[in-house]
Amino acid sequence: MSNVTEKKLNDFMAKVIAKNPSEIEFHQAVHEVVGSLLPYIEEHPHYSEAKILERMVEPERVILFRVPWLDDKGEVQINKGYRIEMNSAIGPYKGGLRFHPTVNLGILKFLAFEQVLKNSLTTLPMGGGKGGSDFDPKGKSDNDVMRFCQSFMSELFRHIGPNTDVPAGDIGVGGREIGFLFGQYKRLRNEFTGVLTGKGIEWGGSLIRPEATGYGATYFAEEMLKTRGQSFVGKVVVISGSGNVAQYATEKVTQLGGKVVTLSDSSGYIYDEKGIDAEKLAFIMQLKNVKRGRIAEYAAKFGAKFVEGERPWGVKCDVAMPCATQNEINEDEAKMLVANGCFVVSEGANMPSTPEAVDFYVKSKILYGPGKAANAGGVATSGLEMSQNSLRLSWTRAEVDARLHQIMVDIHQTCVKYGTQPDGFINYVNGANIGGFVKVADAMLAQGLV
Ligand code: NDP
Repeated sequence: MSNVTEKKLNDFMAKVIAKNPSEIEFHQAVHEVVGSLLPYIEEHPHYSEAKILERMVEPERVILFRVPWLDDKGEVQINKGYRIEMNSAIGPYKGGLRFHPTVNLGILKFLAFEQVLKNSLTTLPMGGGKGGSDFDPKGKSDNDVMRFCQSFMSELFRHIGPNTDVPAGDIGVGGREIGFLFGQYKRLRNEFTGVLTGKGIEWGGSLIRPEATGYGATYFAEEMLKTRGQSFVGKVVVISGSGNVAQYATEKVTQLGGKVVTLSDSSGYIYDEKGIDAEKLAFIMQLKNVKRGRIAEYAAKFGAKFVEGERPWGVKCDVAMPCATQNEINEDEAKMLVANGCFVVSEGANMPSTPEAVDFYVKSKILYGPGKAANAGGVATSGLEMSQNSLRLSWTRAEVDARLHQIMVDIHQTCVKYGTQPDGFINYVNGANIGGFVKVADAMLAQGLV
């Protein structure tokens, strides 16, 4: 980056930080995106004349609300509720709801900002949004979760709709929560519409939606491997997390001939040298999705190692797939991965690598697929769920999987188009940011000053 561009970036960030104090993750996401867009915008000055970037970092609307609910003991509980409607230039706001005690405005704005570019990359007509609550579903009874979801939707329902804003799941929001939220929406509106995605298959959901983010991140890694004439066959894969994304990444990697040796949760990671095969994965799905237990129980059951309080990035591997949360790989861990032979990082989670870790991957010229490209399969399949809801049709599993696969191949191709450097190295960070930006920016220009 030239000195002039760097100064522009610093000036831009100084304003963003002054206007959005304490929103550290949002600053981090904007810095990464704007840093890679500025050189492109300098070559296309009509974007800067219309102040497109300045407009894109300001949400179209932020909704903040109180969520009061009664717990099982009859005690009153209060949580915060949020919905960030970031950008609707290319379609209704679309993005997940996160229920986790760490949720705050800065985290949701970073996620919403990333979502705008990600949704654009999918080629489907979806704007970007994100929402959630600091409610922690962990350890709560089903009834507690239901009462919370009903109260949350009692406010959110007036802001969303199938042509306005279509939320989905994220951390802490799976099939159970989507069910309770949808039930309450339907009751309040007296309408059965595709207002949420990730619905159960019997009531408007799409086949492959639960699998889509993990499968998609694996398809994206497969495309990256192909650029070096390689495949998953025989590759050792380290995955973090053990929730929705991690589970289906494990399934697809195994189907494609790779060996997944780790999974984790916030208590630590398990290392199974023999690999987590289909039977062991079935145990994990039961443990995590039904019993809602801890990953340490896997080690006891299958004689694997459990490393308490640690992340798995010191384990030797060819491919790493962070599928838990933001900033879960720091610079030292990135260095450890590369030193141990890892040459592919495909991000199932959103922004799991710190900026220093990302710089190190790019400097090392490994195959690094940033979350907004690699994990876009989830929202893409949500887009397919919206299409099926509008058509009142259900596509087969094979049909949805084929569409998902093709979308991931196309996103990879977009990254190659916008990210290939003169020396042939594919900078997927630039590729994803520019590829996602152009469509949104052009739509904003066409729609005037809104
Ligand atoms: P889940 O809630 O199903 O699983 C999250 C997993 O990550 C759990 O194993 C959880 O462990 C672990 N985790 C969460 N927070 C932390 C933390 N602070 N430190 C360590 N471990 C943590 O969520 P998903 O699988 O749906 O989401 C995972 C990531 O993928 C998120 O970054 C999400 O934004 C991203 N993503 C998800 C999509 C989807 O379709 N679901 C789409 C695109 C991206 P524990 O149970 O101990 O908290």
